[in-house]
Amino acid sequence: MDDLVQQLGRLPGIGRKSAERLAYHLLRVPKAEALALADAIRRVRENVRYCETCFNLSEGPACEVCRDPQRDPTRLCIVEQPRDLMSLEQAGVYRGLYHVLLGRIAPLDGIGPDQLTIDPLVERVRTGNFQEVIMATNPTLEGDGTSLFISNQLSEFSVNVTRLARGITAGSVLEYANKEILADALTGRQKL
Ligand SMILES: [Zn+2]
Repeated sequence: MDDLVQQLGRLPGIGRKSAERLAYHLLRVPKAEALALADAIRRVRENVRYCETCFNLSEGPACEVCRDPQRDPTRLCIVEQPRDLMSLEQAGVYRGLYHVLLGRIAPLDGIGPDQLTIDPLVERVRTGNFQEVIMATNPTLEGDGTSLFISNQLSEFSVNVTRLARGITAGSVLEYANKEILADALTGRQKL
């Protein structure tokens, strides 16, 4: 029991008290339910990796979006994290491809451009057939800085760089924005 409480307490946002509550909860629910959680954790860690093309989460070398022949291969939307991609997908208005940076440039945290997937991104744009690159980094200081850095890297290519319209309040985070706002931000995107 101590071990479980300790493991749960390591999760983000879970303090000692919540960890204890969760542990007791797992003891009380039917055994199958508790084991299903354990199985889900094991499966996700053993099978899920990053897509070799776009760095979205994937169960094989190519993710669901990259494998879908219906997606528009001339548009590329750049997001910080796989969960941002999921939020945009749920908004349901974008049919192009994605590139997940796996973070943002954050000098204060010691995160530089080479720790992100910017090199493979530039290579993708160089060899691909993209007409538009949509910057969908978070509207924060670091997100904007990252977006600026990338658009400079892409300036040698003849591709239109746009960004999401600012329906999202500056400083708010993409994953928490609601569907309608994201849909508006996507349709109202502007040239960067
Ligand atoms: Zn992919």
